[in-house]
Amino acid sequence: MVVTFPNIGNIAPAARALCQGLQIPYVMPAKNNKRTLQIGAEYSPEEICLPFKMMMGNFIEGIEKGADTILTTGSCGPCRFGEYCELQMKILRKIGYEDIDFVVADLSSEVGMEEFKCRVGKVGAASPVSRTAQFKAIRDAYRTVELCDKIDARAYYLAGYEQTPGECKRILHEYKDRLLECETPEETLKLLNDYKRKMSRVKISRDKDPIKISIIGEIFTVIDPYSNLYIEEKLMDYGVSSIRKLTPSWWVKDLMLKPFKLNSLDIKRASRKYLPYSVGGHGKECVGEAVLGKEQGMDGAIQILPLGCMPEVIAKSILPTIQMDKDFPTMTLIVDEIMGEAGYVTRIEAFIDMLESRKRRGSMGRTVGF
Ligand code: SF4
Repeated sequence: MVVTFPNIGNIAPAARALCQGLQIPYVMPAKNNKRTLQIGAEYSPEEICLPFKMMMGNFIEGIEKGADTILTTGSCGPCRFGEYCELQMKILRKIGYEDIDFVVADLSSEVGMEEFKCRVGKVGAASPVSRTAQFKAIRDAYRTVELCDKIDARAYYLAGYEQTPGECKRILHEYKDRLLECETPEETLKLLNDYKRKMSRVKISRDKDPIKISIIGEIFTVIDPYSNLYIEEKLMDYGVSSIRKLTPSWWVKDLMLKPFKLNSLDIKRASRKYLPYSVGGHGKECVGEAVLGKEQGMDGAIQILPLGCMPEVIAKSILPTIQMDKDFPTMTLIVDEIMGEAGYVTRIEAFIDMLESRKRRGSMGRTVGF
């Protein structure tokens, strides 16, 4: 078994740490790039959403480098994500990759715990290490993704307060590059703990009052920097602080607490008035996050969604009501494989200008806290 997995933000280093801990050969997917998207788009249905195309690109590149098993997540709908794996398997078979095995980690009630264990057990059976070491590998993988998400969140938020412009971004890039050199989960965790400390030592000016923006929207496109044209890094360059609730570690916690109905209680409360039902994907979360953004003192929210994303289109139609009710500006950016960066940047800059002028006029936000 040679495993590969989609390159979705911090999921990739965690999946890598898992394979290292389980001592299973793996192919690390390349950082998402133009070629990944081109290959993915070539073999995907034209109107399918961007995450499908990116993942197809990752899988094909992984198979080209020798992978025979794809480790990915799945769901049973109601949006297109429920069809992803079946369709991806069919396409791969059709283009000649007939012996590729899919391990789809899906904890939905339609799949059930027994089937989930059976699927995940396939990977466990291929691992030569003891059961105890396998549990440790899973724990280390989770700690990896959690630490990466924490460091990123701190960097994106502190960028608006740093004394030396660009310091948070430099540390962010440095740790992401060095992460690729780690050969064991222990090395990975040590490096991440070092960088977490480094990030907490960044000198900040508490008297600064930067623009603060909440990044909301479809989970893949907010997590994958290539898909959203590195929006969080662009905001860092403008000296804007940003927060984002949807991260891979949030997703894992949400999934684990779902059977007990204890998941994302704050989002459920915040979205109740505007969207009390699940509409698939993370449409409900997007609405709840917009309300939470206002409560947390953010100056505005940017929603990112792939072209044709059904749940986010529903959320998009509700955001103007929240904007009016709460006096909370929101802007929507739609991403796809055919898009111009110049227009995208212009819209971001115009939104920041508008938030700055509101701030000058006195609609002040308050600080979320360091
Ligand atoms: S949430 Fe949107 S982008 Fe994601 S699979 Fe569903 S329709 Fe596609």
